Amino acid sequence: METPLNIGISACLLGQAVRYDGGHKLDAFLTGTLGRFVTFVPVCPETECGLGVPREAMRLVGDPASPRLVTIRSGIDHTEKMQKWSIRRVEELAKENLCGFIFKSRSPSSGMERVKVYAGEGAPAKTGVGLFAKAFMERFPLLPVEDEGRLHDPVLRENWITRIFVLRRWRELLAANHSRGGLVAFHTRHKLLLLSHSEKQYRAMGKLVAAAKNYSPSELFNQYETLLMETLRLKSTKAKHGNVLLHALGHFKKMLSSEEKQEMVAIIDSYRKDLVPLIVPITLLNHYVRKYREPYLAGQVYLNPHPLELKLRNHV
Ligand code: SF4
Repeated sequence: METPLNIGISACLLGQAVRYDGGHKLDAFLTGTLGRFVTFVPVCPETECGLGVPREAMRLVGDPASPRLVTIRSGIDHTEKMQKWSIRRVEELAKENLCGFIFKSRSPSSGMERVKVYAGEGAPAKTGVGLFAKAFMERFPLLPVEDEGRLHDPVLRENWITRIFVLRRWRELLAANHSRGGLVAFHTRHKLLLLSHSEKQYRAMGKLVAAAKNYSPSELFNQYETLLMETLRLKSTKAKHGNVLLHALGHFKKMLSSEEKQEMVAIIDSYRKDLVPLIVPITLLNHYVRKYREPYLAGQVYLNPHPLELKLRNHV
C-alpha cells in the first residue's frame, strides 16, 4: 500500500472561512481534482497565531528583505507574534512527512513570492515573502512549494505535481531500505524523468551513485536527495522531452517497422512544434511498451509519473 502523500496548504484554499473578512479562497482544482490523490494538512498562520475572524487586514511594510507585518488601518505590528508562532509551527509540521506545500498567493503571511511591501509613499515593491512562508521555506529548503496562482500554469503545475510524487517514492525508499542497491534501482527508474529536466544534473547524480562506497549511507542519501530535488526543480522543455522521447524510441529499434518508427518520429516532431501535447507521444510509447513487453521502459517513471486522471500532460 502506498504511503499517504501529505501536502501542506493554506487553509483558505480548502474553503475554510479563515480570511480577514470571514471569507475563503476555495480552489476547485486543488480540492476537487488533486485532493483525490493527496492528504491535505491545512495551515492558517493568521488564525492559528491567535488573530480572530474577522480581523483587520494586514500588509508587509518597510525593508523588503525583512518587512514588518502591520495592520492597515490601526498600524498594529504583529511581526513578533507571527514569527514566534511560525518557528513553533514549522517544527510541528516537520512531523507530518510533508511532500510539498501550496501557499496562498500575495498574502503577507502565506505568500511565497512577489508579495507587496509598502515603504513610504510610492508604489509597493512586489518582492516580499509572507512571514510564515519564509519560515517554512527556510526550514524545508528542498520541499516542492508553489502557490495556487502559479499552479494555474499547466507547465508549473505538471512540474510541481511530478516532484511531489517523486518525493513520496523517495520517502518510501528511505523508509524501506537505505541500501546502495535500493538507490541504484531508484536512480535507474528515474533516468528518463531526470534527463527530461537536466542531462548535466543526471550525470552528476550518476557519478554520486557510482561512487556510493566512498560515502556513509546518510551522506550518500542526503546528497542524492539534494541533487534529486534540485534537478526536478529545473524546467523541462519541449526540446528536452523530444530528446528523451527519441532516446526511448531507440529501445524499439528491432521491434518496430520502419513505418512505425517514422510515425513515432513524426509525432515527436509535432509535439516539439506544439501541434500536439506531450500525452500523445507518451501514449504511443506506452502502447509499444505494453505490446512488446519492453522491461526497461516499463519500469521508467517518466512514462507514468503521476495519475492519468490529473490530465497534466494533456496541456503541456
Ligand atoms: S492567506 Fe494564509 S493567513 Fe490568510 S486566510 Fe489564507 S491561510 Fe490564513
